[in-house]
Amino acid sequence: MKILVLNAGSSSQKSCLYDIPGDSLPTEPLQPLWSAKVDWGHQQGIAEIEVTTATSESLETEISTDSRTEVIAHLFDCLCNGSTKVLDKLTEIDVVGHRVVHGGLEYRESVVIDDNVKRAIARLATLAPAHNPANLEGIEAIEQHLGKVPQIAVFDTAFHSQIPDAAAIYPGAYEWIEQGIRRYGFHGISHQYCAHRAADILGKDLASLRLISCHLGNGCSLAAIKNGHSVDTTMGFTPLDGLMMGSRSGTVDPGILIHLLREWDYSADKLDYVLNKASGLRGISGISNDMRQIRQAIAQGNTRAQLARDIYVHRLQSYIGAMLGSLGGLDVLVFTAGVGENAPEIRQAACAPWGFLGLELDLEKNQQNPLDTDIATIDSAVRVLVIHTQEDWQIAGESWRKLQKIGDG
Ligand code: ADP
Repeated sequence: MKILVLNAGSSSQKSCLYDIPGDSLPTEPLQPLWSAKVDWGHQQGIAEIEVTTATSESLETEISTDSRTEVIAHLFDCLCNGSTKVLDKLTEIDVVGHRVVHGGLEYRESVVIDDNVKRAIARLATLAPAHNPANLEGIEAIEQHLGKVPQIAVFDTAFHSQIPDAAAIYPGAYEWIEQGIRRYGFHGISHQYCAHRAADILGKDLASLRLISCHLGNGCSLAAIKNGHSVDTTMGFTPLDGLMMGSRSGTVDPGILIHLLREWDYSADKLDYVLNKASGLRGISGISNDMRQIRQAIAQGNTRAQLARDIYVHRLQSYIGAMLGSLGGLDVLVFTAGVGENAPEIRQAACAPWGFLGLELDLEKNQQNPLDTDIATIDSAVRVLVIHTQEDWQIAGESWRKLQKIGDG
């Protein structure tokens, strides 16, 4: 089965094509036959496009357009022609899987896209204004080019949809609940992939494990996972809640916001900018949102960079503690995404408080760029895994399963 995966963001877009042979889904993720990244973020009105294939062909182009439909037309040309050709014709694509950020309370699992689903994604744009409109644009652009090919929406919120009310509902006014102001959680596709991959690596049944998954990228969130479902998570109504991140503050005393509105004359837009773009590692260090640059600055004795990392670690440890409370114990701690996969010093610091649970990190393994590997000592009571998150593969898998279900009637 040939599955195209599209992750359409507001200023960037990732897509890839998997070919899944036979009639069962492999347990190990496959490499895509073909992938493409589009970036509109560097030059106004210019799409920078990079296409690569499994056979190491690559092509970099720029086209002058803001139109996703035009860019997708170009990508389809690269799929079927020239050095990056992997298909004879587009009708070979069996299904298209889309990452959709917000599924609200309606969508607790992936769904075949029809007009109702499109309307819901559009309606939920009020909850995810930076993401859902771009996701919908991607769906409509594919429709224009591929007609009636089945399209599947895989929601970032779905994995968290079984979080109990006590963990999901904010203790504000009761009408917030009626108006859908509650914890939805994000990064669900990544947390779900990591939970399943962790169980596979350990040769265990996921339902028997209590896991904490630490997705530490530019955005950061934790998920507490029990019986194969997320039962608590640090991101909330928006992806701003919880951990300190690259440029987002994470949780701050809401009284600070009232103070900024009243005493510093902040507008809603200014608050939005400061909390999302000028806080976190970037805000505190004054240097960068990137942990690699923070690390370099610390090595040169920069005290603001050191403070930024100290706060990041403190928050990470505290929220791991909060997730522990929701799980009542811990079998597996997973680190994933840019920082989680590549920063041994952050993993070591995150693990440090949990010696009393019997968690013991193998310091040597932790330093050796482990990927999809257990880095706890043999005697550790908690397994510690570093997992390369593969959200595209998770979306492909969900699309594959959904299409099988349609086939089964
Ligand atoms: P996103 O959340 O946008 O998908 P990633 O998961 O790719 O991003 O994470 C990007 C972040 O990962 C970078 O901003 C940087 O802070 C961090 N990162 C990437 N490589 C390293 C590394 N070798 N050491 C430390 N941090 C890294």
